[in-house]
Amino acid sequence: MDDRQFRQAMGKFATGVTVIATELEGEIHGMTANAFMSVSLDPKLIVISIGEKAKILNKIKESKIFTVNILAADQQEHSMIFAGQLKEHREVAFERLDGKPVIPGSVAQVACEVSAEHVEGDHTLFIGKVTDIHLSDAEPLIFYSGKYRSLEKLETVII
Ligand code: FAD
Repeated sequence: MDDRQFRQAMGKFATGVTVIATELEGEIHGMTANAFMSVSLDPKLIVISIGEKAKILNKIKESKIFTVNILAADQQEHSMIFAGQLKEHREVAFERLDGKPVIPGSVAQVACEVSAEHVEGDHTLFIGKVTDIHLSDAEPLIFYSGKYRSLEKLETVII
């Protein structure tokens, strides 16, 4: 099995798209991520997985806080900005939830404190203790097989 085949297989798992954000010394840093899942209801815990080369890794280790912003269908540009897929720098406005930076218009904003870190291979898993949540009614952005999709279009195909 080579790396490409592994990537292709993992890409067959359709996911939403999130932007993980943290703040260190007054500077907000964001990164696009789809390695996110719920872990526990009591206490309320979630997990994210960050690659060893990502600049946000050490920032979360130091700040001990992060937010998960589940992107809406009309926020594909946000995903591209925070995945470094756009050439020019774009200013992004943030709001606050429990004092932590969140992206306005997201389907869900989840504010967390780091409760544990586990290095596994070339990624670090951060367990986040959820300190606050904000929800909206927007439709989510979908990522599948290396492409952005929308739930609306998928529903149309099924019907
Ligand atoms: P940088 O390269 O510094 O930041 C990424 C981009 O965000 C840069 O262009 C930067 O200018 C911009 N940016 C950062 N902060 C701000 C700000 N405050 N205002 C405006 N712009 C800002 N990687 C993982 O490790 N785990 C995952 O689960 C994961 N899932 C992904 C899912 C998808 C759909 C995609 C497209 C990528 C995913 N990646 C994931 C890859 C990851 O998003 C990129 O490797 C990313 O570029 C690494 O970010 P970095 O922390 O090194 O930050």
